[in-house]
Amino acid sequence: MTLPSNVNIAEVCPRDGFQSLPEKIPPNEKIVIINRLMECGFPQMEVTSFVHPKAVPQMSDAQEVLNGINRKQGVTLRALVPNLKGLERAIASNVDKIKLMLSATDSHSLYNANATTMEAMDKFIPLVERAKESDTKVTGSISVAFGCPYEGDVPIERHLKICQRYQELGIHEISLADTTGMAHPVLVKKVIASIRDSYPEFHFSLHLHNTRGMAFANAVAGLEEGIIDFDSSVGGLGGCPYAPNASGNIASEDLIHGFEEMGVKTGINLDAVMDVAKYLEDIFPKYSDSFLLKAGKSKSLVKAPGKQKKIGEN
Ligand code: ZN
Repeated sequence: MTLPSNVNIAEVCPRDGFQSLPEKIPPNEKIVIINRLMECGFPQMEVTSFVHPKAVPQMSDAQEVLNGINRKQGVTLRALVPNLKGLERAIASNVDKIKLMLSATDSHSLYNANATTMEAMDKFIPLVERAKESDTKVTGSISVAFGCPYEGDVPIERHLKICQRYQELGIHEISLADTTGMAHPVLVKKVIASIRDSYPEFHFSLHLHNTRGMAFANAVAGLEEGIIDFDSSVGGLGGCPYAPNASGNIASEDLIHGFEEMGVKTGINLDAVMDVAKYLEDIFPKYSDSFLLKAGKSKSLVKAPGKQKKIGEN
């Protein structure tokens, strides 16, 4: 197995994780958590979403949060932006990069963006132009890229069509999202390899949800395809809107630990991430989902119990 020697992990808990929590987290609390996460060594963080405050009240403090955090050199701050209004707020808050949200299927897109996939893509045109003027980097995404809860399988032709549109917009960095945990390793490899055949200049990242326990296997499949950019959420915070009790993103500590065990360097301080995960677990015990918090690191050896008296022995 030939694997990349280094990967970049983007921490998305402040957006994807917090967004799915029913209780409003005060902006000061978010600022404390984001500052702690920035110290862990993540090269990129998805800190918030500039959606309409009424649509997602949890993200209504986006500007306040961005103005309150301690910026750290070398950490790219990314935010989701659905429209021009959101983009203006993002630019005013000095985000480094915006992520455009697009669904692979029309059914998912109609539900999320009130537009078909291609209609949503048309709406990106003025956003991309405005972002260019302000020197804000733009990254694209494809939600439900490996399966849609309404339509099932996503044909490769669909991905190719979307990538063609992204190319026309001058966007070559795309996040492939397994939004509802329908991917499996064979499919991950197939989708990446097929798109890359037609668009070799594109740079893909993987945003994997662990809804069905497949996220780490899918991440390894991505690694084998040469993917070096991944999203994850500390403490596994986040969820699935279609399955209330299901897991959210793969936990950052699980992804970092797994990669490092395989000899793939992340450059992130795992102990520091676990401390934040523990802190979050104490505040949100119902929403945390982390193997490492339950089991500890593989290399944290336990004391050998020594010779034991067997039943029936004198
Ligand atoms: Zn997500």
